[in-house]
Amino acid sequence: MESIPYKIYLSENELPQAWYNLRADMINKPAPLLNPATLKPMTAEELAPVFCKELIEQELDDTTPFIPIPQEIRDFYKMYRPSPLVRAYCLEKALDTPAKIYYKFEGGNTSGSHKLNSAIAQAYYAKKQGLKGVTTETGAGQWGTALAMACGYLGLDCHVFMVKCSYEQKPFRREVMRTYGATVTPSPSNTTAVGRKILEEFPDTSGSLGCAISEAVEAATTQEGYRYVLGSVLNQVLLHQSIIGLESKTALDKYGVVPDIIIGCAGGGSNLGGLIAPFMGQKLRNEADYRFIAVEPASCPSFTRGKFAYDFCDTGMVCPLAKMYTLGSGFIPSANHAGGLRYHGMSSTLSQLYHDGYLEATSVKQTDVFKAAELFARVEGTLPAPESSHAIRVAIDEALRCKETGEEKTILFGLTGTGYFDMVAYEKFHDGLMTDYVPTDEDIQASLSELPKVDL
Ligand SMILES: *Cc1c(COP(=O)(O)O)cnc(C)c1O
Repeated sequence: MESIPYKIYLSENELPQAWYNLRADMINKPAPLLNPATLKPMTAEELAPVFCKELIEQELDDTTPFIPIPQEIRDFYKMYRPSPLVRAYCLEKALDTPAKIYYKFEGGNTSGSHKLNSAIAQAYYAKKQGLKGVTTETGAGQWGTALAMACGYLGLDCHVFMVKCSYEQKPFRREVMRTYGATVTPSPSNTTAVGRKILEEFPDTSGSLGCAISEAVEAATTQEGYRYVLGSVLNQVLLHQSIIGLESKTALDKYGVVPDIIIGCAGGGSNLGGLIAPFMGQKLRNEADYRFIAVEPASCPSFTRGKFAYDFCDTGMVCPLAKMYTLGSGFIPSANHAGGLRYHGMSSTLSQLYHDGYLEATSVKQTDVFKAAELFARVEGTLPAPESSHAIRVAIDEALRCKETGEEKTILFGLTGTGYFDMVAYEKFHDGLMTDYVPTDEDIQASLSELPKVDL
């Protein structure tokens, strides 16, 4: 037995004092957000009706490497952080691999995922600005739950537009949100103009994150004292999620462990961006080298089959445009896709890094993801979220490759959450009803052909 414990816990005083802003070390900065009306870079003033003031500053800040974490947020973090870094001894044994596998577990809070790290920060700045409340969308439900918890704690009003299929599939998620005081509306809904328009065109739609975003933005901009908050994709969210990587690095440094490969699932890119942040910083500064792998579902393959272009962040085309790897804002993954990570685009920071060759990406099919999830649950004990299981899949595949080559690589992956609310998906898998729909080139071309024309 090696001297590294199963779980490396940090003490409360080792909680990072500042978030790390990866963009400060990037030579090619992510492209600016564009105003959908003028196609010119969005200014802070133009963003102000939609977003909270301090969050806009963080969003637009490409140069400050460390941004102090306010004491109130640190106090909230202490309720569930530092999160454990686990050495997956049991998984290594089950795979009979010489690889050393570590995972950073973010599911140890009631919302069940890493999203709480940014939810509390965003709710805090909204409260500080004197706002009444915030609006948002949620897909699988983790973000809405996290935001409901943060708003409940700070006494802010929270209105969540929940993608309809998930609202129907996950009634308990909805009730958790309501327990924390949030209002939850299935999207598309007839409570907004954009929702009514989408319903008129597609009455049977099961909804999409893009639609729900449009509705939440409209609800924020048409009510006094409200702003919109987003749980992924944005630079500010990656900034808050850097706490995952900072803690991981502190824990590994304690034992002199240096990862070779760092793996994360990628929906909008926030957990991956956060996990890799300090390591990528070293790579950008030429201080160290690592392999970084983004894992996405084969049914929603933004990095691996999308285009690096300016696109709308939402279906209703009301949000700013971001330059990112995208499948087109009209892309809606097949309804049988159960594993989360359904967003059509990707963080502009990660998109730029991928474009510049700092980051690899791969896509995996959902039945393979659930096979990995089940093995992980059985040997490591934790029931993983389907999203997180994308990273588990590739961590296992890399470990099996080490078994073939005899290499003793050190693998770190992000275990972003637990899967308690995903049992309908697990049920489909167990009953053999889960299929692997992969969009055709024609499907993807159809939505890409609608990309906005932007000449800069
Ligand atoms: C939201 C979510 C993801 C994907 O979002 P990212 O912004 O790409 O991190 C992954 N895992 C879990 C558990 C989630 O809730």
